[in-house]
Amino acid sequence: SELLRADGVGFAYRKGADALREVDLTVTAGRHLGIVGESGAGKSTLLRLLLGLDAPTAGRLFADGTPLDVRDRARLRAHRRFVQPVFQDPYSSLDPRRRIGAIVSEPLRSLGIAHGETAATRAAHALKAVGLPADVVVRFPHQFSGGQRQRIAIARAIVGGPQVLLADEPVSALDMSTRVQVIDLLDELGQSGGLEGRPLTVVLVSHDLSVVARLCHDIVVLERGTVVERGTTREVLTAP
Ligand code: ADP
Ligand code: ADP
Repeated sequence: SELLRADGVGFAYRKGADALREVDLTVTAGRHLGIVGESGAGKSTLLRLLLGLDAPTAGRLFADGTPLDVRDRARLRAHRRFVQPVFQDPYSSLDPRRRIGAIVSEPLRSLGIAHGETAATRAAHALKAVGLPADVVVRFPHQFSGGQRQRIAIARAIVGGPQVLLADEPVSALDMSTRVQVIDLLDELGQSGGLEGRPLTVVLVSHDLSVVARLCHDIVVLERGTVVERGTTREVLTAP
């Protein structure tokens, strides 16, 4: 089924040329989608729109079968339960003053999904799903390596049971061997269905084709804000 759809989406920052023009794409359940392109191609902008952080200046976005209107608070709240972000830098994305337990369970509180003991139990499940022991909840981010921090960020992203993870260069700050481990974790979560056995589909932005090829079923190539190529990973990577 269709999770996300962009129909003729454009985006212009207040200054400068259009960052996105006439972008059409569909994210289908169970098919991880890679968004690739050179720096400045519009990848991060597209991800911000799919996250609902900005509204397109042209075209329309649909999520979970309904239009995504970011000015509608209730709609945005539902969207936050549906999609969750994973960012590039696991050092700046985790609040250094908070314990891992509070960091991982935070979306549950802000989304009104669970409180108290239920939230703690769900956080423990999320940490287990990313391969971390339950006792990390009392520790702080600085006690973990980059790869472990990215696992914690992924635990936070899946704790509320989203159907889509939107990951912007999630491994580019990590060393090579850790990259593969984190990508394989995303693959595993996609197959096992995250926390609740629900399908979990990843949209992965990366400039690293080997990372994309390892995880993604389909690829969209952006160039100066427009889609210049799309297809299965095999089709795109073997194209002349
Ligand atoms: P990326 O890693 O996606 O290429 P950049 O390093 O280009 O990101 O940009 C880092 C931050 O600066 C982002 O938040 C981006 O939105 C912002 N940014 C990029 N280009 C400009 C620009 N021309 N004017 C203002 N902000 C920009
Ligand atoms: P990518 O993620 O592929 O590197 P971005 O989405 O960051 O690309 O940027 C797309 C275009 O939008 C680039 O030309 C960039 O300079 C511009 N841009 C990004 N952020 C801003 C911003 N905050 N203000 C103005 N221009 C921006």
